[in-house]
Amino acid sequence: MSEKRARQQQKRKRNNKNKGRIDSHKKEGSKLISPFNQIPNTAYMSWMNDRLPCMVWGGLLINGIGREQAIEVFRQIGIHVGNLFCEVGDRSCNLPRVGIYGLSTLDDDLQDKYFKVLFTDERIVDALKPLILFKDLPLSEKWIEYLGDVSGNERQLWTALADAVAILLDHQSQEATDCRWAYMIPIVNSGRLQLQTEEQYKEYTEYPNYEDQRKVRPFIRATEMQLGGGMMNDEYFQGKKAWSADFWNECKDNTVCLASASERSNIDFDLIKTISSVRGIWADLSDHFIETDKFTHIQAKRDASFGFCFYALTVAKEGLASSGKLVTAKLALRMLAEIYITFKYLISVRNEKLWDIYRSYGSGQAKLTFLKLDEILEDKPGYIKRENVEALANEDMYMDFQDIDLGNWAKTDLRKMSQVADCKDVYDAYYSWPSSYAHGQWCAVRDTVFTTCYNPLHRLHRIPRLAPRYEDGAENDLILLLNKVLDLLNEVYPSFEKRAELVQKFES
Ligand SMILES: [Zn+2]
Repeated sequence: MSEKRARQQQKRKRNNKNKGRIDSHKKEGSKLISPFNQIPNTAYMSWMNDRLPCMVWGGLLINGIGREQAIEVFRQIGIHVGNLFCEVGDRSCNLPRVGIYGLSTLDDDLQDKYFKVLFTDERIVDALKPLILFKDLPLSEKWIEYLGDVSGNERQLWTALADAVAILLDHQSQEATDCRWAYMIPIVNSGRLQLQTEEQYKEYTEYPNYEDQRKVRPFIRATEMQLGGGMMNDEYFQGKKAWSADFWNECKDNTVCLASASERSNIDFDLIKTISSVRGIWADLSDHFIETDKFTHIQAKRDASFGFCFYALTVAKEGLASSGKLVTAKLALRMLAEIYITFKYLISVRNEKLWDIYRSYGSGQAKLTFLKLDEILEDKPGYIKRENVEALANEDMYMDFQDIDLGNWAKTDLRKMSQVADCKDVYDAYYSWPSSYAHGQWCAVRDTVFTTCYNPLHRLHRIPRLAPRYEDGAENDLILLLNKVLDLLNEVYPSFEKRAELVQKFES
């Protein structure tokens, strides 16, 4: 049960995430600063890491005796502990905090009141029993006095605890909001939190039955975030942090990871027929090349234009051969996007010399590689054939006359090229994200090799997948980009109408 519930929790968490539009970010140098981080000096305790362990008793109670009754218990504690707090003038504690750590900071009379009001029902003893699993539980003697000992039920108690944590992991869930209210209500009743209006006071004391809850819940969460985070109270802050750390450590030490089975990865298209459709274009393209060729001197524009297409055919075919799902399919997409943008840029600029620059830059790279092989690299890489690179470097002119350009060949970058060529949409859709995979950036690594552990007691941490994630199909995009490259050729060397198509599987 825990696994399913945690999965739902995580889904909700994902859906609730503030998606922050790009425009709301502030540009500082090369960084886009998120709206939240634009507020100066924001330091806060995290709900899941630091505050949830203090209110886990609330989650246990909700699961154990039902939400409505639990809320009434919270309300009674709020009234009695809150009122008692303000009845006595000279207090050593500054707020009636009822989190597990906060309780241990209260004066004795307040602690006694809390336990007395809480334990009015035998079912509450059963509900809260998992708390005694923790060796470092603050006020453990008091808890044991009411809850008794573990008495051989450890497994069941850990499961009950996991179920309670599962409903609280999302800081905005109904149950988490209930617990955050339960933390605040004694403080509100004590008069130590000055609410602005009578209305706000009622929203608190009559929760969840007064006013529109869509407005009340965020208000409760915002106040709890400040007071529960130990603002202006370093001693409380440090103590709470220590208990939270103990809580999660004990959860990890005593329970195991739960990995979900990998999703089955099916090839959604007819791989053989699709690849042969792409292969078929090669021969037609060769015919078109011969038919339109008039000269034998170096024709930078012609060679590059046809070359882009043959190269795109090769890359697309390889991407498709990896069933469109392997990591290399994303790299193929990125390569196709770059070929398309470069090709379109060269056409758009309408400067014949640029084709020569593109070509001689490439020859310069071959020369540079040859020189490094010859003079610098002691361990020669196996994939480069010296004679091959040498021949390439010398092909258009003897390499001694060839300059080597170390920057970008067009003295710009691909993003700017895409703007000039009016195809920034291709850059955004097919270059940026696959680049994360090409560079091995964190999200690409995480996405491919890690999954989330579904044990709620492990805070949704990451564990290795049983096998890499091969679920995203790039096949439609590979075909689309390949055909866009062929469209460009048709523009400059008409007419070439043949296009690749994704052949669907035959459904019998
Ligand atoms: Zn785990």
